[in-house]
Amino acid sequence: QAKEQGKARYAIFDQAMYQQTLELLQLESDLRQALERQEFCLHYQPIVSLATGKLKGFEALIRWRHPQRGLISPAEFIPVAEDIGLIVPLGEWVLRAACRQLCAWQAQFPHLMPLKMSVNIAGKQIREPNFVAQIEQILVETGLDGSYLQLEITESTLIEYAQETIHALLKIRSKQIQLSIDDFGQGYSSLSYLHRFPINILKIDRSFVSGMHSNAENYEIIRTITTLAHTLGMDVVAEGAETTEQLTILRTLGCEFGQGYLFSRPLNCASATALMSTNPQWLDFTELNQSL
Ligand code: C2E
Ligand code: MG
Ligand code: MG
Ligand code: MG
Repeated sequence: QAKEQGKARYAIFDQAMYQQTLELLQLESDLRQALERQEFCLHYQPIVSLATGKLKGFEALIRWRHPQRGLISPAEFIPVAEDIGLIVPLGEWVLRAACRQLCAWQAQFPHLMPLKMSVNIAGKQIREPNFVAQIEQILVETGLDGSYLQLEITESTLIEYAQETIHALLKIRSKQIQLSIDDFGQGYSSLSYLHRFPINILKIDRSFVSGMHSNAENYEIIRTITTLAHTLGMDVVAEGAETTEQLTILRTLGCEFGQGYLFSRPLNCASATALMSTNPQWLDFTELNQSL
């Protein structure tokens, strides 16, 4: 009887696997068509100066409006896009759209400038031989000055492909474009590795920030990362700040910037534009929140 049960379980397992494979194939085929069907859009999450509460810039975050499934999270489809090589044209679309948007905002809100636009770059994109040429082309085409653009590369990509990426990173820096390490602290890199890369900004992973006030170890990690970053001349962005307690601690630790639901969720283009038009020059995210 046990044997029969085992067999039944295998049958169920196989069926589940089969179902999963079908779904993945469907996702891949939908994804291949989504770009020309214009199903992608960008949302923009404010990055805020913790000292002044002022808007410092935005991180562009891709969204996919699937005709049947509705909004699909980038956490689900970006890895698939990487697997099937679609990340290269998709990433190019993101870069162009983000640069274009910042140019439009520069014209519309000169009094809020300079703002920076941060764009996530997948490992496969940087390893493309013509990646730097592609960025240069986009800057020329959109008219954006490279010094307002920041590229985010995850710590794992940086470490895994250190040899392959360092040359591209140096070329990018020579265009005045800034480089951030995303999701920093996840344990891939030893801290001593950092000085080898031409990095301007460390983004501390959300997991450390969210556990900070209840977990002494997370607090210590943030303190250590911030001190080291400053020693190396880098700025620090705390990801995923959600409470005023976290804000207070991050300020005390000398983190320059914050990004998180405390200040704002990612906003669609219209909401981000509305935020900047309805708030005068003294737009203060930290103040806004304390008065809530
Ligand atoms: P990420 O680059 O680390 O982006 C930050 C993520 O944290 C975003 O999720 C954002 O919505 C979320 N977040 C921000 N503040 C908070 C907070 O206070 N609490 C919580 N719980 N979450 C917060 P999102 O938009 O779902 O993106 C997930 C990941 O997908 C990104 O992580 C990034 O790795 C990737 N991604 C998004 N857009 C792109 C893109 O255009 N290109 C590439 N290659 N990857 C992208
Ligand atoms: Mg990011
Ligand atoms: Mg991140
Ligand atoms: Mg993340």
